[in-house]
Amino acid sequence: MQEKYKMYINGNWVESSSNEYMDVIDPSTSNKISSVPKATIEDVDYAIDSAREAFDKGIWPNLPPSERSKILLKVADLIETKLKEYAINETLISGKTIKQSSNYDIPYIVDNIRYMAGAARIFEGLALKEYVPEGSSTIRRDPIGVVAVITPWNYPLMEVVWRAVAAIAVGNTVVVKPASLTPITTLMFAEDLEKAGLPKGVFNVVTGPGSTIGEYLAKHNKVDMIAFTGSTEVGRRLMELGSSTVKKVSLELGGKAPFIVFDDADIEAAVQGAVVGGLVNNGQDCANSTRYYIHEKVYEKFVNGLIDELKKVKIGDPLNAETDMGPLISASHRERVEGYIKKGIEEGGKLLYGGKRPVIEGHERGFYLQPTVIETENHKSAIVQEEIFGPVWTILKFSEYQEVIEKANDVIYGLGASIWTKDVARAMKATRDLRFATVWINEHVPVPSEMPWPSYKQSGSGASLSTYGLEEYTYIKHVYIDISGS
Ligand code: NAP
Repeated sequence: MQEKYKMYINGNWVESSSNEYMDVIDPSTSNKISSVPKATIEDVDYAIDSAREAFDKGIWPNLPPSERSKILLKVADLIETKLKEYAINETLISGKTIKQSSNYDIPYIVDNIRYMAGAARIFEGLALKEYVPEGSSTIRRDPIGVVAVITPWNYPLMEVVWRAVAAIAVGNTVVVKPASLTPITTLMFAEDLEKAGLPKGVFNVVTGPGSTIGEYLAKHNKVDMIAFTGSTEVGRRLMELGSSTVKKVSLELGGKAPFIVFDDADIEAAVQGAVVGGLVNNGQDCANSTRYYIHEKVYEKFVNGLIDELKKVKIGDPLNAETDMGPLISASHRERVEGYIKKGIEEGGKLLYGGKRPVIEGHERGFYLQPTVIETENHKSAIVQEEIFGPVWTILKFSEYQEVIEKANDVIYGLGASIWTKDVARAMKATRDLRFATVWINEHVPVPSEMPWPSYKQSGSGASLSTYGLEEYTYIKHVYIDISGS
């Protein structure tokens, strides 16, 4: 990791015009590990103008898809050769375990890019046809223009890839604003895009606070689309900001995934699934399983099994290959999660396990929190209704199918859900009845690059990955050709 980074604008590595910097902290120690420029409005104007020029002059959108694809495939290769460096830096800035970043996040990102590079070469659709006798009609898919990509801290590089690579794969140009807590791997990625031969202006990175430069980007009249991944609260604000110029706004927001265990489920498998579903990314994943609806007949067995497994979770230095769980992202975020635990208990919940700050040798100032299990019957409690975004397993008992579906749907979110049962008919009925955009059966987490990551309700709009995630960054255009000659 470099001591200081520059931003990437118009193919140049630049400091902020104010010369100010922001610190980047290792959440496992709270030590400063690097710093990045604090962009000004002028820097953002420069980035938008560069992206505008690369788009409006047709430099990027008019390149054949095969040429764009070559560059993206090259960058995927570059990341693969530097997988360890990417994984270490991703872990250092976010606190996610090296096990996760090197075995999952970075290899998955490489696969995501390769998929997008290939899929962007094909758009299937209607064949040219005469819908009226006098004319032939066909459809074009055109890039939207300049896309402002604003990303969160929990999957720093993956979210840039899901949003910005999808956008550029189909001919858009982008200005990326990564989360202020985790900007480093986005800047590394810009370096590799440059090496892979991406023309200047296509991919620009500005680092700085969302409250100033994020807002400015989102309302700018030269930006055509906002692609945002983050909290539902900021998503609402971006919809407002985008409305002044009627921008397309694509949102991937918060989640509150139910995890439903029926009485015929393989309980050992469900317990393993619950540990992984709740623990992935140190409990800071939008699709984390968070609300565990357990059938009364298997309730005790599941809860005891879960607590036994959570006791085995190794909390520690995220760079140690044995560690299962690292720190939360920041001191304030840990306080927020602890606030939810306290509130959950005040609102009738019972603490069954965890809830404390473990002391990790050599990492005493890290933002650690134990995995925490709370049981509750209060469905209106904040721990059931709101996104905690931490390692908290909230357990609820149920007895009837209809009751559990209604409760599972009784939140503002609609991102992911899982059901655990051996009954195929019940599983298929539940996939229909659950108002969530991804439903896993006897699993909770995987999303192949070929499948969409969409959202229902206040979890957002649009999709990432798959061909739907590429279409997201295109307009459809009807082209009508007169064949009557009159
Ligand atoms: P966040 O607070 O909403 O911030 C996300 C990004 O928005 C950051 O870059 C932030 O910049 C910027 N931002 C903040 N306020 C802004 C404003 N007023 N205008 C423009 N930009 C602004 O979210 P987070 O805490 O980083 O991430 C956690 C959230 O992301 C969770 O809710 C999680 O569920 C969601 N998420 C969803 C998905 C999904 O696929 N649905 C995936 C990952 C994460 P600063 O960093 O400078 O504040």
